Amino acid sequence: MNRRWFFIFFILVFLSGCENQQRHLHYVFKSIDLEVRSHSQAYPLLLDICDRYGSRMAGTESAGRAEELAALLFRSYGFENVFFQPFTFNQWQREDVRLRIDTAGTYVDFQALALAFTPSSDIQAPIVDAGNGLINDYNGLDVNGKIVLIHLGLLAGTPSHLRNTHRAQKLSLAIAQGAVGCIAVNPIPGDLPSTGSATLDGEMIRIPAVSISFEQGEKLRASLKHRKCTARLYTRNSCKQAHARNVVARMEGYGLPQETIVVGAHLDSWDIAPGALDNASGAVSVLEMARTFKVLNLRTRRSVEFVLFMAEEQGHYGSELYVREARKRNLLDGIRYMFNHDMTVNTYGFNLMGHYESEDFFRQTGELIGRTDSAFTNTIEHFTYMGSDHAPFLMEGISTFTPLCRYQTFHTYHTSADGPQHITPEMLSSNIRTSAMMVYALASWPALPASHMSREQLRTYFIDNQLQEELVISGDWTWN
Ligand SMILES: [Zn+2]
Repeated sequence: MNRRWFFIFFILVFLSGCENQQRHLHYVFKSIDLEVRSHSQAYPLLLDICDRYGSRMAGTESAGRAEELAALLFRSYGFENVFFQPFTFNQWQREDVRLRIDTAGTYVDFQALALAFTPSSDIQAPIVDAGNGLINDYNGLDVNGKIVLIHLGLLAGTPSHLRNTHRAQKLSLAIAQGAVGCIAVNPIPGDLPSTGSATLDGEMIRIPAVSISFEQGEKLRASLKHRKCTARLYTRNSCKQAHARNVVARMEGYGLPQETIVVGAHLDSWDIAPGALDNASGAVSVLEMARTFKVLNLRTRRSVEFVLFMAEEQGHYGSELYVREARKRNLLDGIRYMFNHDMTVNTYGFNLMGHYESEDFFRQTGELIGRTDSAFTNTIEHFTYMGSDHAPFLMEGISTFTPLCRYQTFHTYHTSADGPQHITPEMLSSNIRTSAMMVYALASWPALPASHMSREQLRTYFIDNQLQEELVISGDWTWN
């Protein structure tokens, strides 16, 4: 055979190999689709977790029982390697809150929720409207000794080049400007205040901060245009050492067992609701993917670790511990992708968080996924943020990604309304089917495009994604 013919022969063998791989993937995808559509246990499990365990704030008894349930389920699916990763952390607890505002000559009660890691207080001070609470909002504004009113999102009319920042960043700015308290408005329309952490380093901040609803925020902002308002804010909160455990189920790969795809979700929720969307939806997705892999006897070239993290809400404690343990055991280099599930329903694509080198692989695999699911539009986005369990992996230069999800108008994020009544079986099933397919493809494909970012690449990546300031505040910026 002359050189030219050999080359053509080689290309044909290569192409037919790829085609076989594609055909194999398509066959497995169809079996995943059928299994999840006909036998999914995710929805009854979500109802059970929400109804029987209620809120699962890390370190509480109900959270501990949920950890036990998760380990039991993994074992019942047939996983032999199931283990806990115990840790202690600084747990914040809310006890009491009262916000009274003088809007028209008399003080009236406002429904309020303390933000996590804010202290006990008893203060009275004038309120100043600081808009979105971004640096430019303080130009010419004196908030020294005052209580600032800030929007946790971006108000209508905000210039499009401004990017919203984490509430902890806004709080840090308010403190630096001399504010003695903060009223933070839930950016999601409705009549409920929302909770969330006011810090990124796990320590109590100096000033009290409470959230009020979008509607009350609008009214208060309108009042402030016409007259001065004063607030009386009383809060009782505390911190204590608490214990929690990650739950891990490992499936060993047959060809490249030292390479791992981590599929994670946090199992904990805030204390004010069962956390059906945030994050029973993600936790049952991970459990159901694990069940599907076992029941279909799917074997993969790489290892897959299904992980339920604890204490995400209070500061990513569980995922940070997982990464620390992996570093200690020299396993970080083997983690090829971390796939995070936080509030995952109605999946239509993937957010690759700036890992452009992975785009071709995801697009081609996504095309196959789309053949089993018309609602999956194979959309790819690149939005990078640090607010969930993928962040500690990202800090190590590991490729991280999440499903892209369509939320309904009743967004219950971090409010007392985050119950199971807003979730349907199909919302969960859509994420589980499409995500399980992507996990199988990543764990099986001969060569993956993902590479670890070097420290220098990471620095540029964080600066390009405007995350430097947030990382400075959280104490994670280790570059000059
Ligand atoms: Zn969450």
